[in-house]
Amino acid sequence: MDIGFIGLGEMGGAMVANMLKAGHRVRVWNRSPERAQRLAEAGAVVVATPAEAFAGDAVFSMLADDHAVREVFDAPLLAGAPRGLTHVNMATISVALAETLAHEHAHRGLHYVAAPVLGRPDVAAAGKLTIVAAGPAEAIDRVQPVLDAIGQKTWRIGSLPQQASVMKLAANFMLASAVEALGEASALLAGHGVAMQDFLDVITGGLFTGPVYSGYGKMIAERRYEPALFKARLGLKDVRLALAAANATHTPMPMASTVHDSLVQAVAQGDGEKDFAVLGEVSARRAGRA
Ligand code: NAP
Repeated sequence: MDIGFIGLGEMGGAMVANMLKAGHRVRVWNRSPERAQRLAEAGAVVVATPAEAFAGDAVFSMLADDHAVREVFDAPLLAGAPRGLTHVNMATISVALAETLAHEHAHRGLHYVAAPVLGRPDVAAAGKLTIVAAGPAEAIDRVQPVLDAIGQKTWRIGSLPQQASVMKLAANFMLASAVEALGEASALLAGHGVAMQDFLDVITGGLFTGPVYSGYGKMIAERRYEPALFKARLGLKDVRLALAAANATHTPMPMASTVHDSLVQAVAQGDGEKDFAVLGEVSARRAGRA
């Protein structure tokens, strides 16, 4: 397919590399041009404006947050886009903005699909993302070959894009809660002279299997938070978005509020760029052991 891609950060860059490998023609735009230049060597066509990328059979985007998405996909960009174009937004954004974007695109004869992903940059590089897609079914059908190049499976959630956003936020809330629990358990153990690694060997052997407990647990056990695979500031953004979505429907999420405060503390203490396993350090500091 002839596609555009906007936002070449840790995730976007890895996704474009796999799209190119699968034989798609990709026009790329990034705010900082040097990230785009690196992909030119892999065959991407670097364009100078978002509008030049917002054309062809479909356009994909992977920007940081609501603010970035709002800045790039403004009214003139959407107004100038060819009718019938499909935009697949893969960033983790608010439920409210997903709903707004769906209306704005439909109003201008564009198709809007929300397709946030589960999986960190290493998973993106391996082409094994889990994709949660929602939007018009025919639009998802059209872009499925591209989604297949970057993900191991696309789950279709519904026809309303915001449904994919809320599912992604619920998943990241659970992830953040698991990391918070690991951090608190680590502080508890340290207070009684038990090694975190010994604890992990026991719990990941049967009770808590899977990459979340073993992966983040290992980082906490080793107190190793760099290089960040998922930055604390992005984790905070997602928990904030989950709380905002909950607030919109008067849904109490007391655990999310606790994790939110721990992530605020991590960022306030200068750890925003570290992996959000740094929640282990927040618990250690609270116990006076950091
Ligand atoms: P990242 O490495 O920080 O990249 C962010 C991208 O957004 C960059 O291309 C950046 O451009 C661009 N950007 C930021 N503010 C902008 C603005 N005001 N105008 C234009 N462009 C702007 O982040 P990432 O890890 O790739 O994450 C991207 C999205 O994927 C986020 O929504 C994140 O929550 C989600 N996600 C991340 C992970 C993960 O583990 N990292 C996993 C799943 C989902 P510059 O290069 O110019 O800064």
